Amino acid sequence: MGYSAPRGTHDILPTESHRWRSLERAFEDLVSLYGYAEIRTPAFEDTELFVRTSGDTSEVVTKQMYTFEDKGGRSITLKPEGTAPAVRAYLEHGLGQQGAVTRLWYATPIFRYERPQKGRYRQAHQVGLELIGSESPAADCEVIEITVRFYEALGIRGLRVLVNSLGREETRARYRAVLLDHARPYLETLEPDVRSRYERNPLRILDSKDPEAIAAMADAPRVLDYLEEASKAHFDALRGLLDEAGIEYVVAPEVVRGLDYYTDTVFEVQSTSLGAQSALCGGGRYDNLIHEIGGPRTPSVGVAMGVERALMVQEAEGVDVAAPTPRAFLVSATPEARAEVRALARSLRAAGLACIIDLDGRSMKSQLKAADRSGAPIAVLIGTDELAARTATVRDLRTSTQKSVPRDSVVEEVRRA
Ligand code: AMP
Repeated sequence: MGYSAPRGTHDILPTESHRWRSLERAFEDLVSLYGYAEIRTPAFEDTELFVRTSGDTSEVVTKQMYTFEDKGGRSITLKPEGTAPAVRAYLEHGLGQQGAVTRLWYATPIFRYERPQKGRYRQAHQVGLELIGSESPAADCEVIEITVRFYEALGIRGLRVLVNSLGREETRARYRAVLLDHARPYLETLEPDVRSRYERNPLRILDSKDPEAIAAMADAPRVLDYLEEASKAHFDALRGLLDEAGIEYVVAPEVVRGLDYYTDTVFEVQSTSLGAQSALCGGGRYDNLIHEIGGPRTPSVGVAMGVERALMVQEAEGVDVAAPTPRAFLVSATPEARAEVRALARSLRAAGLACIIDLDGRSMKSQLKAADRSGAPIAVLIGTDELAARTATVRDLRTSTQKSVPRDSVVEEVRRA
């Protein structure tokens, strides 16, 4: 019996890794335009960091964390999300001194003990942003705008942007009471999981996928009707800025997000091309988080985008991502030509041109077959005649035509192919 990848994880094979690279490059290129710099944090953190920040009633903390004791007796957790580690590092290294606005991006695996299915994994990957130190709705708008531009850059078309505001402590407390009153008569009909949300965090009944819960909450009072003045003004300003940026969105009171640290703005982007698992990303404002882990009050906003989901949508929408191919496959027609082929490969690579050579002294026929499979547009053949005449035969693999060129102009010939 051989080994296989652990349940809920997946290998990213050479046939698909170029899609990942292309997505990561598009993300980095885009966010650099807005002045974001990369932060890399460890794969694991002290468990307490996540319990403290995600909230001890959140689904992630109660059910999904990969937590273990290390050999030194510390409780360690593989990171289930990227924000808490990023702000922990921000604080630890004093990145935001003198009240400056700090813009960070990350690309990271996340680990959650979930029920695996298509689009839901135990090791998933996210790219994300943290915009730390601004309370302006312009910050919320910047993060939402980058998110939308990112999906556009990936060629994704069917986007639905959902925004909501959860207000602050006062709103939460008032709204919590209202929700409890609303949901109480339905409790008997709800699944145990939803009922436990009622007890732990009633806000989360709103984003349950259970049909009974959806029906029960359809006419629930909306959090937006309970916002404090400042939150209401913030949300109105954000909406104005989104309009100004030409971003289409809908106000969606059911978007409450799974992690407890959000204040005021929350948002999600969904794909209209995926059925289940249509959530592409989630984000929002987290003005209390940094204070919660021992720092000064620092208004912040961020987003985390699922890499697998974005790739799934690209595929569902038929977005073509070209795989990188070598520029040439070099064929040695005789054993004597091999040294010359190696020398040619060296000069091509020095010129930044990717090429592949045969390593095993295979027959010319099998080298040409490999050349065809490699995806290279041309093969360059060197045999006895070419050696003697200091030439090479350049074969166009798409048209099966060939010509002889001087050895000295092969690099230029490959560059043009
Ligand atoms: P969250 O950190 O839960 O707000 O998730 C943000 C985004 O990450 C989601 O919208 C998904 O696209 C993606 N995501 C979260 N958890 C998983 C998972 N277990 N498997 C695949 N993608 C995930």
